[in-house]
Amino acid sequence: MKRLKCSSSKNQRVPPPDFTETTVSRGLEWECGLNPMKFMGIFVVCLMGLSVLFSLSVILKNPPSDSFWTVAEARPLDVLPQEATNQEDDLSQAVEVPEDKLLGGLLPTGFDRESCLSRFESLSYRRELPQKPSPYLISRLRRYEALHKRCGPYTELYNKTLTHLKSGQYTSSSDCNYIVWISFSGLGNRILTLASAFLYALLTDRVLLVDRGVDMPDLFCEPFPEVSWLLPLDFPVTHQFNSFNQKSAESYGNMLKKNLLGNLSQSALPPYVYLHLIHNYDDHDKLFFCDQDQTLLQNIPWLIMKTDNYFVPSLFLIPSFEQELSDLFPAKATVFHFLGRYLFHPTNSIWGLISRYYQAYLARADEKLGIQIRVFDTGTGPFQHVLEQILTCTTKENLLPEINRKEPIVTPSGKHKTKAVLLTSLSSGYSEEIRNMYWEYPTVTGEVISVYQPSHEEYQQTEKQTHNRKAWAEMYLLSLMDKLITSSWSTFGYVAQGLAGLKPWILYKPENRTAPDPPCRQAMSMEPCFHAPPFYDCKKRAGVDTGLLVPHVRHCEDMSWGLKLVERDSEL
Ligand code: GDP
Repeated sequence: MKRLKCSSSKNQRVPPPDFTETTVSRGLEWECGLNPMKFMGIFVVCLMGLSVLFSLSVILKNPPSDSFWTVAEARPLDVLPQEATNQEDDLSQAVEVPEDKLLGGLLPTGFDRESCLSRFESLSYRRELPQKPSPYLISRLRRYEALHKRCGPYTELYNKTLTHLKSGQYTSSSDCNYIVWISFSGLGNRILTLASAFLYALLTDRVLLVDRGVDMPDLFCEPFPEVSWLLPLDFPVTHQFNSFNQKSAESYGNMLKKNLLGNLSQSALPPYVYLHLIHNYDDHDKLFFCDQDQTLLQNIPWLIMKTDNYFVPSLFLIPSFEQELSDLFPAKATVFHFLGRYLFHPTNSIWGLISRYYQAYLARADEKLGIQIRVFDTGTGPFQHVLEQILTCTTKENLLPEINRKEPIVTPSGKHKTKAVLLTSLSSGYSEEIRNMYWEYPTVTGEVISVYQPSHEEYQQTEKQTHNRKAWAEMYLLSLMDKLITSSWSTFGYVAQGLAGLKPWILYKPENRTAPDPPCRQAMSMEPCFHAPPFYDCKKRAGVDTGLLVPHVRHCEDMSWGLKLVERDSEL
């Protein structure tokens, strides 16, 4: 009996956290060779231990989402699900990894796991968020989702406003107003402009609808519950998207230029206008960023936007949006980080590319460094001056160790620390050179450096689906690294740093094919740069340096005329 009990108790043990395991096993030791009095005492101890274990297993099976947020955040990530399954000990497998599936309330409930695994699994690949989303942002997102459900594609209200659009007649009684985002430019640009359009939708109570382009549904899961964000295929204006430009009759800037809107009564306003916010836009197009124009645009039910710019910083300079933006983002330099995490979830096929690569090459490294190389010079590369620049930056900023050319082997005093470098580039040359360097020579610190590059597509092929899949997977993989080095002017890098919540080291743009000195600097904030901002004071109707108006909108590190959001106390 005793023996039986002794062994059966052992078999029933649930994998406990350390403190309970010690208590229980010590109790069993006493039990197996001692008298009845002691046995009673031990029995009580065992009972108490088991009750603690029972409570723990109940909590772990049904984690209340909020209370586990802190646990999930505090742990230093690294593919915990995989660690759990790797262990041969059956007992440890029973411990479920606590998950905060909803990013502290940022994400809505109600999605099923299988249709978009990344929404649920990505958290276990990431480090903690630097900040929490504000309660106000969370409440506005829920309000937006309700609006989207009421007015999104094929709802009664959508059908009604569409009838007005088709008839070309203006109606002021429209319950739903829309912003249509046209898929345009490289993938990094598209991600940034879509986040900008969504913020504009939040600020103006519009419903965001997304043009599919060649591959939007292939790359991104639906972010809003129940009703799609995709513009229906039979939307009557879609066939004009490609031809819309600055000179189009429907262009807002063009209408202003021709003074077609000035004296119109509300009922004579067009049912839709095209907003041309592409880098080559002119002073009339830029009036979009003036309060007076926002007041006029409020009366137009359908706005159709084509842009290749992260225009968020200039929204912060529009006085009527100021208070709302400050409530949404008390930490101003977190706009893309939160909106990006909210909106952009890789579809299952992209998540497969990301998770397999991460687990095969990156998960086990002690430290992970992402290096994103984007060269805007003509010619295919690799270029010697860029390689020099990367290596000077990694050495100067202590991101990678130097090599020892004199010794064949350097043995570290402690354990070999491993550093994985994930390098992304259209060219394979940079990663090959760096990998060879760390193969041929030991590091001065004895650290072991491994270098990986998922693809080398040689040139940009934006219209090709497999190409964009790799690009999205690589941006996302970069965002899972501990530290980042990015290239000047590249929206590809901006997406990675924003999703990661990291201030990257930016490689300055080389001039005349020469490595710049200094080679890089750490960014003031994780926010992307608005490359073509307006320099106009709407009130004074005069030019102004918009990078000097408020402490949280500054010129970018990588583009002197660009604008970016920073925290007030950022180092300039
Ligand atoms: P940007 O031009 O650097 O601002 O970034 P975009 O993403 O808007 O456009 C560049 C496009 O070139 C990407 O979307 C990819 O299609 C391609 N590209 C550039 N760099 C890389 C890279 O490192 N890896 C992959 N897979 N594609 C890249």
